[in-house]
Amino acid sequence: MGDKPGSAAPAASMTASWVAYAAILIVGLLSLFSLYMGFLNYSTNQDIALVYMFIGAAGFAAIGYMLFKGRSPVKQDALDVKKVEVFTTLECPKCQQKRVRDFKRGDYVFKDDEPCTRCDGMMVITRIARKKEEKKKEESSWL
Ligand SMILES: [Zn+2]
Repeated sequence: MGDKPGSAAPAASMTASWVAYAAILIVGLLSLFSLYMGFLNYSTNQDIALVYMFIGAAGFAAIGYMLFKGRSPVKQDALDVKKVEVFTTLECPKCQQKRVRDFKRGDYVFKDDEPCTRCDGMMVITRIARKKEEKKKEESSWL
């Protein structure tokens, strides 16, 4: 594994998730053991059995909490921020008609793209540009 200073954050979250998995596993085994002990003691000593069952139930509740907390939406947010809208501008050299549409794979400037809707000429791509989504402003107000 590389030891770049920039990769500190992902490495830390990786370790945290491993610790969480280990904790969930240990708590799960202890909870199962507690429930098992509770059932074993149920006929002989109900007080102790109830304590064991309570510990077991609390353990499973803790696992549920950890799983719920571990599901962080950070990754999804990072993908949303990167999303940019790219649009293609087409122009007809004969009648000067202009049209703007969403960028399609294979678009490039000066490409004869599609027939003109006003004359028999071919519309040529004159500009491919991207703009950042307005959404970003909304997201920052959440923080
Ligand atoms: Zn035209």
